[in-house]
Amino acid sequence: MDPKKEIIFHGISASPGIAVGPVLVIREYNTAYTESSESPISPSLVESEIANFNLALDKTRDEIEILQKKVQDKFDVREASIFDAHLLIVDDQMLMSEVQDMVRRRLKTADYAFFKVVERYVAAISVMPDKYIKERADDIKDVASRVLANLRNAKRHTLDSMTSKKIIIARNLTPSDTALLDREKVLAFAVETGSNTSHTAILARSMQIPAIVGVSKDIFENLDDDDEVIIDGFVGTIIVNPDIKTLELYKLKSKEEDKFYIDLVRESRLRPETVDGFTVQLASNLESLDEIITAKKFGTSGVGLFRTEYLFINSDHLPTEEEQFQTYRKLVQAMDGEPVVVRTLDIGGDKLEQKISSTSESNPFLGLRAVRLCLRERPDILRTQLRALLRASAFGNLKVMFPMISCSEEVTELKQFMDNIKDELTLEQCDFNKAMEVGIMIETPAAAMIADTLAGMVDFFSIGTNDLVQYTMAIDRSNERVAYLYHPSHPAILELIHRVSQAARRHNIWVSVCGQMAGEPQYTPLLVGMGVHELSMSPISLGAVRRIVRKLSMYEAEKAAMEAMKCATSAEALELSLAVLKNISPEIANLALKGL
Ligand code: PEP
Ligand code: MG
Repeated sequence: MDPKKEIIFHGISASPGIAVGPVLVIREYNTAYTESSESPISPSLVESEIANFNLALDKTRDEIEILQKKVQDKFDVREASIFDAHLLIVDDQMLMSEVQDMVRRRLKTADYAFFKVVERYVAAISVMPDKYIKERADDIKDVASRVLANLRNAKRHTLDSMTSKKIIIARNLTPSDTALLDREKVLAFAVETGSNTSHTAILARSMQIPAIVGVSKDIFENLDDDDEVIIDGFVGTIIVNPDIKTLELYKLKSKEEDKFYIDLVRESRLRPETVDGFTVQLASNLESLDEIITAKKFGTSGVGLFRTEYLFINSDHLPTEEEQFQTYRKLVQAMDGEPVVVRTLDIGGDKLEQKISSTSESNPFLGLRAVRLCLRERPDILRTQLRALLRASAFGNLKVMFPMISCSEEVTELKQFMDNIKDELTLEQCDFNKAMEVGIMIETPAAAMIADTLAGMVDFFSIGTNDLVQYTMAIDRSNERVAYLYHPSHPAILELIHRVSQAARRHNIWVSVCGQMAGEPQYTPLLVGMGVHELSMSPISLGAVRRIVRKLSMYEAEKAAMEAMKCATSAEALELSLAVLKNISPEIANLALKGL
């Protein structure tokens, strides 16, 4: 028999790493999520059909509760709260009575009626402009597939029972599938659906499983169970039936990658200090408590950005003061005295939430986002969050940061707001750190231009380059059509970062960079050279950036940064930084070019 031909497929990198191994192919979309035949039932069968439907719902509810308990034991409340939303779907009275109505009046089977009703809900949600709401369609399909499997007494595909190490290639993995993956057995996974902000991708990164999303459908026609597959989660490539040469190359790469990460973990206790003795703190950007383990493994010097949006997005209700307090308290306690910067709610832009504001705007990134929304429309949410944060400040080194600042009046108003809450807590005899530091994100060009004024009003700055690039270059950061203009090394961006860092130094306050750029080693020489105190990034990037910092001299970093600001193009500026990188660490320069 002819050996199978090597075929390469591309997707979107969702979680870094390389894996080589036999594949387990899951061709069905969540098995039971399919339409059944429309054959009518006789009126005498209506009640037993509805009784069966109710039994299937009960069974589904039990399954979800068991799953929720398992996930709660394995992770934290945030992951488990995904299943609160699943339970709400099973208990959705409107949906269920529509199904019963269709069975009673139109004499359809419960199976057929349920699928039709769910399909309509899914279609309505799938056209919503908000990516997060759109992704909830997957949650509905996840639950529907359980109900249908129970109605049909069919066995759903579960991944709990894998007996050997495999790479999974599936149409989709639901959040519940992913949360329960056995890290020992699953080498990597690739799925056809989803974006790298879906729950599935977030969980893969938390669990450090190499993963790819958005894989072309064609892959399923070219793949059999146990075929050999390579997943390159760094660049989003899947190689099916690699030939001997590719296999050897990737086995080597995988070994190198493993060794690379093991070495980086070994280096995690080394001081992030340049060869000429300047310290650059390396902190983590976290979205959930379970990432603390990875952050510590890679030697984080604290949390430079805790994004609180996910506490709100992943919950079916507005998180209460007590719920938020518990999360923030756990966070600072786990970080053991290291600084923890928690950012207040940054909803708006691409992170819209119906339960917070239902007004739709034609330009949400330029609309009532973050502190604007909190101050103008939802001071109740800001108040609850600041109370929870102040209370948690009694338990560790917690600092609060406000996002999307564009003028000094906002800072004055926010500080006044905070002072009122401090007075309230004092009256209630609640413990809190009266000297808790307050900082702001610099992510609008306006804030960068008035950095000297703002620096006199706060304890620290954190430069959010993701937004700073978006607002300076006038490009929607989620629009792939203008992605070609998204260059953090644009001389205008470098000039703004430099301006902010110099203002912070003049006023003797702390300045960090927490946008994606801070974790990309190709920019480390420029950022260090511009004089920021801290780089805050996704924990998995800490090791590579630490190695660069330790090999860099402030002298050459400053020289590269000053020259880069004078360049005519982003490419020239980046080339200057890469030249330094290639010189001090060719292996990381290589990975950086691959998209580390
Ligand atoms: C940024 O804008 O750089 C940032 C860190 O915030 P976010 O990506 O959450 O908008
Ligand atoms: Mg931002």
